[in-house]
Amino acid sequence: MTSPAETPTPSHHFLRAQIERDLAQWEQGQGPERRFGGSPGDAAHHAAGPMDPAKIRTRFPPEPNGYLHIGHAKSICLNFGLARDYGGACHLRFDDTNPEKEEQEFVDAIKDMVQWLGWRWEHAGHTNLYQASDYFGFMYRAAEALIEDGLAYVDEQSAEAMRLNRGDFTTPGTNSPFRDRSAAENLARFREMRDGKHPDGAMVLRAKIDMASPNINLRDPALYRIKHAEHHATGNTWCIYPMYTFAHPIEDALERITHSICTLEFEDQRPFYDWLLGHLARLGLLAQPLPHQYEFGRLNLSYVVTSKRKLKQLVDEGHVKGWDDPRMPTLVGLRRRGYTPESIRAMVEGTGVTKTNSWLDYSVLEGCLRADLEGRAPRAMAVLDPLKLELTNFAEVFGSADFRDPCHAPAHPHHPELGERQFSFGRELWIEREDFAEVPPKGYHRLYPGNKVRLKAGHVIECTGCTKNDAGEIVSVQATVVPDTKSGTPGADAIKVKGVITWVAAHEAVPAELRLFDRLFTEAQPDGGGKDFLEALNPNSLRVVQGFVEPALASAAAGSHWQFERHGYFVADRIDHQAGRAVFNRTTTLKDTWAPAK
Ligand code: ATP
Ligand code: MG
Repeated sequence: MTSPAETPTPSHHFLRAQIERDLAQWEQGQGPERRFGGSPGDAAHHAAGPMDPAKIRTRFPPEPNGYLHIGHAKSICLNFGLARDYGGACHLRFDDTNPEKEEQEFVDAIKDMVQWLGWRWEHAGHTNLYQASDYFGFMYRAAEALIEDGLAYVDEQSAEAMRLNRGDFTTPGTNSPFRDRSAAENLARFREMRDGKHPDGAMVLRAKIDMASPNINLRDPALYRIKHAEHHATGNTWCIYPMYTFAHPIEDALERITHSICTLEFEDQRPFYDWLLGHLARLGLLAQPLPHQYEFGRLNLSYVVTSKRKLKQLVDEGHVKGWDDPRMPTLVGLRRRGYTPESIRAMVEGTGVTKTNSWLDYSVLEGCLRADLEGRAPRAMAVLDPLKLELTNFAEVFGSADFRDPCHAPAHPHHPELGERQFSFGRELWIEREDFAEVPPKGYHRLYPGNKVRLKAGHVIECTGCTKNDAGEIVSVQATVVPDTKSGTPGADAIKVKGVITWVAAHEAVPAELRLFDRLFTEAQPDGGGKDFLEALNPNSLRVVQGFVEPALASAAAGSHWQFERHGYFVADRIDHQAGRAVFNRTTTLKDTWAPAK
């Protein structure tokens, strides 16, 4: 396994170009000194610190209101990857400024997934793991400073009036009747808000910018609202909470982020980002140099939805078995399905970074998984749809019906260092039902009466017929062993056969539950164009079969990856696979055979 620390630099893109320009300027001593106080803090705190040991600072700022999905992996690998490549630090920051919907369960799961992807937030002795709610005190102070400077006011218009007075793309907004209150009056009102004197929604604190700005985000955006709600970290200390647009730039500045990278929908917020930080720096609260925001296109994956709200709906309404259901595009789901961190990193790093939102076909992710596991997943034989094969001359050839003929095969065809698998051959075997045909279709080289095939890593056999039950269904197949044809012995090549089939001996086969998945949605863009994504749910996305696997797999470690010959890559289920109960999930088939449902 390679760690991301060793991954070669992926494709060059506009963010790299930006960082390289900035680093070149800083190295020449242009711009203010970049000092770091060792922890997040205000201007004085950082001014007292040494020069920042991190060349750049980026951050991944999830809101802990759900599980991370494949889209987040893009942002994680981008931010942590840039920090890695340019000698910087990447912070993991929980953007927990919204008191509702946030839970410790999600905080823990997010940390777990960032680490699983291979990233670390420690840098130069600092644990850059932060939560935005720690900055509530500073944010409040910043709000008061803006009020005192005449840059913010308490607006008591109704939400409806505020919406109407905002105008739209063609109409400028109208000033609030509360806009010209004195700073002292605004301060008193804001303190009443903080002290719980007013109910939710009674008033908000707004920035005083320009109600006629062509950028609607600059038409006096809200900074603080009243919300009498308990917060998972700060309890009931606050009954006013900062708006995301106010909180986020401040969080970046307190942490000394240099490059604040976000998705395109925040582009129109950038002028406010700069307005806010510029004023707070001028007022002496924040240290220069200030962070800058850069936007890139979201990653969308076909055949999945990547909105936390929609994923939650799938879980809550029981369409899947949980956040970590192997069909979910959550990182916990992908891990349980058998995706490796390497394959996910390869997928997101391989897709580059652009200024437009992109759609990536799900098959690209599957291709990355195959490329990762091809060289390292041990091989094994498994029978998914078992049919009994009886070797009628077995006792004659081997001297006893109970004889066990030892067989072996390499764990990996190109990596002898991975060792050999041991199993044995006996009178009764399990083969795939599809490997026998009473009347062979054209070009069929597997078992049919009179035809010879090789049992992989075993002997050549010749089919003699089959047995049916009263309903006419085939219940077993009969064949004879051709003596002296065992793989790896001098006689092995004496007989040429066109077909090779996989098998597991009945006396040692391990019964296994095999979970076979199909796409969760039958449409490439299940929620495209405002469609109800639930209508595109694939009713056949999960098929569970009882099959058999090689004896060695009884002791497969939970989470271990295997290539079951012919059937694809499988993983021993992290939760249900235990001693005495073998459970494997199919991560992906060996080839891209999927076609959208008609
Ligand atoms: P969702 O819409 O699923 O709730 P979000 O963007 O609201 O996602 P956050 O927890 O706020 O979720 O996101 C954390 C970071 O991940 C943000 O910087 C966000 O821009 C980024 N991110 C989320 N989805 C994607 C995506 N599909 N592609 C790239 N980055 C993404
Ligand atoms: Mg969000």
